[in-house]
Amino acid sequence: MTIDNYNFANKKAIVRVDFNVPLDENGHITDDTRIRGALPTLKKILADGGSLIIMSHMGKPKGKVNAKFSLSQIKDDVAKALGTDVIFAPDCANAKEAAANLKPGQVLLLENLRFYPEEEGKPVGIEKEDPAYDAAKKEMKERQKEFSKTLASYADVYVNDAFGTAHRKHASTAVIADYFDKDNKMLGYLMEKEVQAVDNILSNIQRPFTAIMGGSKVSTKIGIIENLMDKVDNLILCGGMTYTFAKAMGGKIGDSICEDDKLDLAREIMAKAKAKGVNLVLGTDCVAGNAFSNDAETMICPSNDIPDGWEGMDAGPETRKAFAEVIEPAKTILWNGPAGVFEFDNFTAGSRAIAEAIVKATEKGAFSLVGGGDSVACVNKFGLADSVSYVSTGGGALLEAIEGKELPGVAAIKK
Ligand code: AMP
Repeated sequence: MTIDNYNFANKKAIVRVDFNVPLDENGHITDDTRIRGALPTLKKILADGGSLIIMSHMGKPKGKVNAKFSLSQIKDDVAKALGTDVIFAPDCANAKEAAANLKPGQVLLLENLRFYPEEEGKPVGIEKEDPAYDAAKKEMKERQKEFSKTLASYADVYVNDAFGTAHRKHASTAVIADYFDKDNKMLGYLMEKEVQAVDNILSNIQRPFTAIMGGSKVSTKIGIIENLMDKVDNLILCGGMTYTFAKAMGGKIGDSICEDDKLDLAREIMAKAKAKGVNLVLGTDCVAGNAFSNDAETMICPSNDIPDGWEGMDAGPETRKAFAEVIEPAKTILWNGPAGVFEFDNFTAGSRAIAEAIVKATEKGAFSLVGGGDSVACVNKFGLADSVSYVSTGGGALLEAIEGKELPGVAAIKK
């Protein structure tokens, strides 16, 4: 079933959204992107004449009630965004009556799902090494089913619009779908768009395809780097991982960030790229700082000849040019992870050069997908989010989808 083909009139819809929004110390939302992202789905249901039961997690309360992570803090913002009142259910697993009383057009917001360990389905207070762990896990999986069944009992139809958690097999993202038949479960608009964007990258590749992977470490990105190696024409590896590669090639990297236990892995990646005919582009020069600070003294130096007491913090001018040369002519572009410590204004040039080259390519007709928290923060910081083809809301979910893994949140709808 697709959301466009479904008429929600007089139906109660339970919708999993990702309202895990950042709050300041006073509990005020600092970035409402995720709420705005879910609005098309929520508004369609209300416009059809349905009633809404909204469920989400917030933060990591680890299966315990914790006021710091209460969704009551965002109730008024959700009401404002929807343009209608919102009723709050302070216990997500005891909201049957509140749900039953909902009239068409009314909205119920359930308290944080992760106040219950059943949501994530992981046993609490027991380590994996404990001999009783397997039994505890089995028991928790049973409890997770019951919890999912309870949530499902509130509604006639289930919609999953939480791409950010689609790679998790949680009660509200996957298990709950077992309690709805095929005609009464579907992806929301945001999920549809995300799945489509990934599909464009994976199955509808226009060449050349340039992927840019940055961030601090190679170890957290290895799965996707290996997977991309079979698909891309150009692979830019930048950010902190530059120095692991530079060291692996015998370079001198001063005090730069480096994963010393990943030098062999770096050499393997280089060999693999060569064997597969992938043009691997690594930084050749960098902006080095004499401290990890925005106010550090800086100098441009070769990425493989950084003096002690200095660390590579951003891509240098020659590197930025080399990156732009493989980004601008590309027809498919994926960007995940910054090219430098972009949080410091004096070390944004590399990430900015990447973003600007992506915008140029997009203007010439390329499909460009930017995903993962930090690269999204980059395009937002540079005011370029509207100038790329698609900005994904997913971090881990996006990477897993591009690695080619089926997302449990999507698979559960198809069953
Ligand atoms: P990740 O979480 O692995 O995607 O990495 C994102 C982080 O990498 C950002 O906070 C950047 O500041 C950081 N980063 C990028 N380049 C460097 C660098 N050369 N040295 C240290 N950190 C970096």
